[in-house]
Amino acid sequence: MNNYKDTPELKARMNSPLMERIVELKENFYTEAEKYDYAPAGFADAMDNFDRVLELTGSVCDEVIAPNAEAVDREGSHCSGGRVQYSAGTARNLKVMHQAGMSGFGLPRQYGGLNMPVTVFSAVCEMISRADASFQNVWGLQSCADTINEFGSPEQREKYLRMASEGATMSMDLTEPDAGSDLQSVMLKATEDPENGCWRLNGVKRFITNGDSDIHLVLARSEEGTSDGRGLSLFIYDKRDGGVNVRRIEDTMGIHGSPTCELVFNNAKAELCGERRLGLIKYVMSLMNGARLGIATQSVGIQDAAWREAVEYAAERRQFGRPIDTFPAVYQMLAVMKAKIEASRSLLYETSRYVDIYKSLDAIAKTRTLTAEERQESRRYSRLADALTPIAKGMTSEFANQNTYDSIQIHGGSGFMRDYACERLYRDARITSIYEGTTQLQVVAALRYVTGGVYSRFVKDMLVTLPDSAARQAISDMVARLDEMTAHVTDQKETEVNDFCGRRLMESAAYCVMCTLLLRDSVETPGLFDKSLKVFLDYSRSQVDGHYSVVMTWTAQSMDYYRQSLPYSRV
Ligand SMILES: Cc1cc2nc3c(=O)[nH]c(=O)nc-3n(C[C@H](O)[C@H](O)[C@H](O)COP(=O)(O)OP(=O)(O)OC[C@H]3O[C@@H](n4cnc5c(N)ncnc54)[C@H](O)[C@@H]3O)c2cc1C
Repeated sequence: MNNYKDTPELKARMNSPLMERIVELKENFYTEAEKYDYAPAGFADAMDNFDRVLELTGSVCDEVIAPNAEAVDREGSHCSGGRVQYSAGTARNLKVMHQAGMSGFGLPRQYGGLNMPVTVFSAVCEMISRADASFQNVWGLQSCADTINEFGSPEQREKYLRMASEGATMSMDLTEPDAGSDLQSVMLKATEDPENGCWRLNGVKRFITNGDSDIHLVLARSEEGTSDGRGLSLFIYDKRDGGVNVRRIEDTMGIHGSPTCELVFNNAKAELCGERRLGLIKYVMSLMNGARLGIATQSVGIQDAAWREAVEYAAERRQFGRPIDTFPAVYQMLAVMKAKIEASRSLLYETSRYVDIYKSLDAIAKTRTLTAEERQESRRYSRLADALTPIAKGMTSEFANQNTYDSIQIHGGSGFMRDYACERLYRDARITSIYEGTTQLQVVAALRYVTGGVYSRFVKDMLVTLPDSAARQAISDMVARLDEMTAHVTDQKETEVNDFCGRRLMESAAYCVMCTLLLRDSVETPGLFDKSLKVFLDYSRSQVDGHYSVVMTWTAQSMDYYRQSLPYSRV
C-alpha cells in the first residue's frame, strides 16, 4: 500500500496542463539549474522529481504516520515546566519526515529548501492528513515560513528559513480570549526596546496550534491608543530567546497529536516582520490564505480516509443475508462521499495552481521587472486564488464533517466504538470548519465575489471551453439560478439581507464552481471522474434547487421570523 500509488485521482491532478507554466515560473525559466545541480533542467525532469517525492511521502504515510495515528490520538501531547512534549508517535513522524528530506518543502533553494510548488505541497499535506490529520498541523504549519519569505528582511529570511529547512517548527499566534474571528481586537502588547534593538511582547494568546514551536509569528498591538486592525504589527519570536511559556495544553475533542496551547508572553524579545501597522491588514491576510488552503488539504485527506474506512467495512459487513453495500441507502451514501472527495480535490488543486502562478511571478518580480503580460497574468491568478480560497476552505471542511459522519453511519453501532478509525476521524474533522476562520467567516469572505459575479463569470468562461454535454447543460442551468438568486438578493440593497442569504449564495456558487472543475477534470482524464461527476451533479442540483426555492421567496421581512425565534429580545 502507498497513499500516493493507490490514488490515481491525486496523480491525475498533478498532471494538469497548467503544470508546465507553473514549473517554468517556479524554476525561473530553468535558470535555477545553473546554480544548483539538483534543480530540474526541464519540465519532464521536474515532473519525475515530483512523482518520486510524492511516492516517498506515500510510503512514509503508510509505513510510519498512519500506523502511529491511533497511539498518537490516545497519548496526546504533554506539558510540564512551560514546555510541550509531543506524543511518541508525533515525535517519530517529525524525525522520519526530516530524515526523508522533506523539511523546507516549498522554500527557495537559496535557504536550503526544496523549492516545491504549492500544488505538490498540497498533495503531500493531503496524504499526511489521510494518515493522521493532527500531524499535518505540526508539519504543515511550516507554511508560516512563506510569510517570512514574502515579507521578512533578507537577514530574517536567511536566519529563519534556514532554520525551517533544518527542521524547525513554526506556529501562528493570532487568537486571544477576546479576539477570535474578530482579530482586529487583538491586545497582546508590543513595546519597542531601543536599548536592545528589539521589541518586547506581553500578554496572552490562546488556542495556538503547536504553541511551543521553535519560531512564532505573533500578531500584536504595536500602536498605543489604537483599537482596530491598523494598530497591529507582525512579529517573529525565536524560542531560544525565552519569554514565552505554555500555560496549558487544551483538552481537545480531536487532533490530539497537535498540541493546542495557551501561551503567556512575559517581556518576550521579538523582531518586527515587515512594516508596522500592516500586521493584520496585509501579512496575516496573506498568511491566513495559505493556512486556509492547508485546512482544505487536511479536510480532503480526512474525507478520503473516512470513505476508505466505510468502503472496507460495507463490503465485509452482512445483514439480511447480504453485504450492506448492496443496499441502495448504503451504496448511495458511499457514492456521494466519493463524489464530494473528487469535487473537493478539483477545487483544492485548481486553487493551489493559481497560487503557484501568482506567487512564482511575485518571486520573479523581486529579481527583474515583469513584462506587461506577466503582470496581467499575476493579477488574474491572484484575484482568482483569493476568490477560490474561501470556498475551498469552507466547502471541503464541511464535506470532511459530512463524510466522517456518514462513515460512522455506515459502520452502524461499531462506528460509535473507539475500535474503529472512523470515530477518530469524526472527532478530527470537527475542527476543520472552525479554525483558520469558521465557515461563517468563509461565507463573509466569499460573498463579495458572489455578488460581484466573479464565480458566475468563472464558470461561464470555463464552460465555453468544454465540449457540449448533458453535464455542461446542467451546470449552465445551475449558474442561471445562481444569477437569479444573486440579483434577487442584491436588488433589495440591504446588507443584512445579503448576510442572511450569504451561506446559501456561497454554497450555490461553490457547487457551480466545483461541478465545472470536476467536469473539466473528467474531460482532461477520460474515465477517471465520470461517475463522481454524475453523482456530484445530482447532489449539487438538489442543493442549489433547495437554496433557490427559499432565497427567491425571502425579503427583509422574512428575517424577522428568524430574529424573533431567539428566546429573548435583542431590541
Ligand atoms: C484546535 C484549535 C486550534 C487552533 N489553532 C490556532 C492557531 O494555531 N493560531 C491561532 O491564532 N488560532 C488558532 N485557533 C483559533 C481559531 O482560529 C478560532 O477558534 C476561530 O477563528 C474562531 O474564533 P472563536 O473561537 O473566538 O469563535 P468566535 O469568533 O467567538 O465565534 C463564535 C461563533 O460566532 C460566529 N461568528 C463570529 N463572527 C461572525 C460574523 N462576523 N459573521 C457570522 N458569524 C460570526 C462564528 O462563526 C462562530 O460560529 C485554534 C482553535 C482551535 C479550537
